[in-house]
Amino acid sequence: MHGSYEKFRREEFIEFWRRHETMQRSLWFLACYLGGMLLFAIPGFLIEKMPWLAVLWFPLFFGYLIFFPLWFMRVRGDKVDKRFLKCPACKSPLMGPGHLVVTTTGKCGTCGEMICE
Ligand SMILES: [Zn+2]
Repeated sequence: MHGSYEKFRREEFIEFWRRHETMQRSLWFLACYLGGMLLFAIPGFLIEKMPWLAVLWFPLFFGYLIFFPLWFMRVRGDKVDKRFLKCPACKSPLMGPGHLVVTTTGKCGTCGEMICE
C-alpha cells in the first residue's frame, strides 16, 4: 500500500528524540539568547553617558539578534538525522506528539504503519 520503506531501529529512534526533544532545544535556545541579550543590556546603560558607543553597539546588537538564531540552528541542525523527522511510510512529520506514538507503539500515528523494527 505504501510501497517499500526502511523501518527505523527502535533504539535509534528513541535515542534521537531523547536528544532532540523539541521543547528542550527551544528552552536551551531561549536561555542562551536571553543570556546574550543581557550582555548587550550593560552597554545600553553606558550609551546614555557616552552616545558615541551607540555607533558600535547597535550594529553589534542587531547582528546578534539576527545571526545568533541562524548560528544556533546550524550548530544543532548538523547533528539532526532528518530521516527520523518524518514517517518513512506516509512522510507525515513526527514532530510534537507524533514521535511519542512511535516510541510507545512502534506505529505511525497518522497512517498506522509499523515503522519500528
Ligand atoms: Zn505514517
